[in-house]
Amino acid sequence: MSGAVVVGTGVAGATAALTLRSSGFDGPITLIGEEPDEPYRKPPLSKDVLRGTMPFERTRLRAPQTWQQQEIELRTGEQVVDVDTLGRTLALDDGARLDYDLLLLATGGRPRPLPAADGLDGVHMLRSASDVPALRDRLDDGSRVLVIGAGLIGAEVAATARSRGCAVTMLEAEPTPLSRLLPPRIARVYAELHRSNDVDLHTRVDVTGVERASDGLVISDADGRSWTADTVVVAIGMVPSTELAERAGIAVGNGILVDEYFETSASGVYAAGDVANQPNVLLGGRQRIEHWQSAQEQGAAAARSMVGERTPFSQVPWCWSDQYGVNLQVAGWPSATDELSIRGDVDALNFTALFRRDGRLVGAVGVNRAKEIRALRKLISTAPGADPDVLADPATDLGTLASATVSTALT
Ligand SMILES: Cc1cc2nc3c(=O)[nH]c(=O)nc-3n(C[C@H](O)[C@H](O)[C@H](O)COP(=O)(O)OP(=O)(O)OC[C@H]3O[C@@H](n4cnc5c(N)ncnc54)[C@H](O)[C@@H]3O)c2cc1C
Repeated sequence: MSGAVVVGTGVAGATAALTLRSSGFDGPITLIGEEPDEPYRKPPLSKDVLRGTMPFERTRLRAPQTWQQQEIELRTGEQVVDVDTLGRTLALDDGARLDYDLLLLATGGRPRPLPAADGLDGVHMLRSASDVPALRDRLDDGSRVLVIGAGLIGAEVAATARSRGCAVTMLEAEPTPLSRLLPPRIARVYAELHRSNDVDLHTRVDVTGVERASDGLVISDADGRSWTADTVVVAIGMVPSTELAERAGIAVGNGILVDEYFETSASGVYAAGDVANQPNVLLGGRQRIEHWQSAQEQGAAAARSMVGERTPFSQVPWCWSDQYGVNLQVAGWPSATDELSIRGDVDALNFTALFRRDGRLVGAVGVNRAKEIRALRKLISTAPGADPDVLADPATDLGTLASATVSTALT
């Protein structure tokens, strides 16, 4: 028996390898990743690890002995360069070949490059642990940091840089920060949060050039404006790493296309995590999610499918972000066009927003309201038709309501 091979030591791949074993797979399991580190948690990289308040070692996903104990062969620092889906074999960058019976591609993604800034000294991107030390070294008190992109990672890097005393400018192409995650009404709260923390935030900026000048890096935009900085962080999103799948002839389209069991167009080959584009079982259509919890849940679910459990994946996406000590959580699929109701006080940064589409609850955003978002994440799948007035009523205990419901998601 050749066994199962998992490509990618991120949370999706690592969780899949562990779940294969805990689900009774008793053949060999190989977990291969090109990063030199053992599996670790990425979310702290833009927060405590970048700030310097958490040593990288504390981000480790599992104790080092776990892999051996679980009889998982962990191979770090090795890249898979080719997959032959007919011969069920794959090639590594050192020329070695490996046979498989079952394969999971959990290759995640890499930062979207900004060609105008490519190769310039002082320009940084953040995706993996190896990106942190050089960037952290530049976040000195008083240094000028300019962040291009006010998405989740850009906004967190800006907040972290402020906490280290940097003078921070953030440029965003859209009218509001976090625009892929939050509708304008709530995103504006985040614009205010950054500005009140002395971030010089500019929206609707189309960056056209980054150049080295005598007093630093000069960033210019389509309207003829320019800014000068010591350090530039490019945070304009990620590109899913689909090359391996494409070369193998596996169907891709904004990620690797999978079915509700995470199986790709090639028999015996699965994909999960940030790279997977999967059907949305609850709302219809397809989605590719870039959140930690989803990657973990997908890795586990893909592994269960690989051992023959046939349960369609229907978890509601959930993510969080911490900026300036303010905790943001998002569940489901909120959008700007949904009907919105609010519990709590927006100005006091203590509220939950509920999003309703075609009469059903589809999403929730909470600021400093973790408990309510946990409950609403459940209600989105178990009670999507719940009365909006009841949900928005501050007297309603959402936790009690959520525990009283049973899953109707798939009936
Ligand atoms: C700085 C940062 C902060 C974040 N903060 C949050 C947060 O606060 N909340 C939240 O919900 N989410 C957050 N996220 C997102 C979250 O971390 C990701 O959704 C999650 O890590 C995705 O896991 P993954 O396993 O799918 O992919 P990845 O973590 O990208 O792992 C994929 C791995 O596969 C490897 N690989 C790719 N191709 C090959 C190959 N050919 N051969 C071998 N190895 C290969 C890659 O090197 C990588 O190690 C953050 C992400 C980053 C980068």
